[in-house]
Amino acid sequence: MVDDTDKINPWEMVQAQIDKAVKHLDCDPNMIEKLRHPERSLLVSVPVRMDDGTLKVFKGYRVQHSTVRGPAKGGIRFHPSVALDEVTALAAWMTWKCAVMNIPFGGAKGGVECDPTRLSMGEIERLTRRYTAEIMNFIGPDRDIPAPDVNTNSQVMAWIMDTYSMQMGHAVPGVVTGKPIAIGGSEGRSEATGRGVVYMIIEAAKKLRLKLDGATAVVQGFGNVGISAAKNLFREGVKIVGISRSKGGVYCSAGINPYELQRYNDEHKTMEGFADCDSISNEELLTLKCDILVPSALENVIHRGNAARIRTRILAEGANGPVTPIADEILKEKGVFILPDILANAGGVTVSYFEWVQDLQNYFWNEAEINDRLRQIMTASFKKVVAIADDRRIDNRTAAQVLGIGRVMEASQLRGLYP
Ligand code: NAD
Repeated sequence: MVDDTDKINPWEMVQAQIDKAVKHLDCDPNMIEKLRHPERSLLVSVPVRMDDGTLKVFKGYRVQHSTVRGPAKGGIRFHPSVALDEVTALAAWMTWKCAVMNIPFGGAKGGVECDPTRLSMGEIERLTRRYTAEIMNFIGPDRDIPAPDVNTNSQVMAWIMDTYSMQMGHAVPGVVTGKPIAIGGSEGRSEATGRGVVYMIIEAAKKLRLKLDGATAVVQGFGNVGISAAKNLFREGVKIVGISRSKGGVYCSAGINPYELQRYNDEHKTMEGFADCDSISNEELLTLKCDILVPSALENVIHRGNAARIRTRILAEGANGPVTPIADEILKEKGVFILPDILANAGGVTVSYFEWVQDLQNYFWNEAEINDRLRQIMTASFKKVVAIADDRRIDNRTAAQVLGIGRVMEASQLRGLYP
């Protein structure tokens, strides 16, 4: 079979994006060169006693791309495709994302190459605790603060916090974000990424004069980000015609209630058979006609092979890196309004920032305050990105990179780094 995709190594995607942004940045080329390399990369072996008594060794990673603007910040992913280049790319996107939001963090990412669907709860706990022990000297509230990403959740964060705290001899809630509220987590954190995606869709819809009430949407991925994005869209009156997870999805022209779908999916462990819906593959789902498409799963899902068939007005990147550089060009030609990952899905890290601040000051805010502050920060960033795009006649992704990379460069310059 001919591979008609241009799925690329995510780290190459980062380099191609820097090449594009750099043309619009007025800065010392040496400093840009520095950002093409992560500051630190840690590779660890994670031995885990399996339930059957055997010992398995997993590969783990933690990469700090930049700490120029503050401690490194970024999620931890458990997935079979986790690899050093992927983690490094995700760390760089975190650097730009925190800078676009203007929150005082650098960028990091971590992961363990494993298939959590084949691990028991006990095995996942032992893997998490051992991975934490291996990266112990790398992380900390002032150094590098992990958070959830694909296949990790608040329970995993609780185990990381506990393992770290045991070593320190006292509770250190600020070492991770995305924790359960009972141990220093923040109101609104679990929904924050998807909610932020929808705040950005609301702004994009205003700009495009698209009425959200009655508009149609498709959501790929029904995990932390996808579920919350779907629920928030539903609350805005948007009709969600397609939703998928890794094993396929469902389509219903009359609209899907994501609350009911979540209940059905939790009970039956599949979406198949959900009320009045037809089954649909992920490939078909992405090319459904809609006003808003929200990829919320993994990288490289929109590529040269399917970009021309994408039929949406707004593409809101809940996932990191879902569109390849060639697909980006094709979508631009088609006039799709892209809300790039480092803007669209920054709600998670922004509320993680609030969580970290609350942990450090031991004083907690209510959910309305959190959502309000989140909306203010994201809306201000949206306006800045769109103003740069309009002024310089560049696409939103490049504009967001110009804003983010520009702020990292400014910080580097002020600190007198890399003389
Ligand atoms: P998750 O593990 O909670 O959910 C991932 C979802 O994607 C699941 O429903 C899974 O079935 C689905 N999926 C996996 N492979 C797929 C495929 N090939 N096709 C279709 N669906 C597939 O993960 P998450 O935390 O929701 O993260 C999703 C994306 O959002 C990732 O790119 C992540 O980096 C990004 N992100 C997450 C956060 C966060 O706060 N969790 C913040 C910013 C960005």
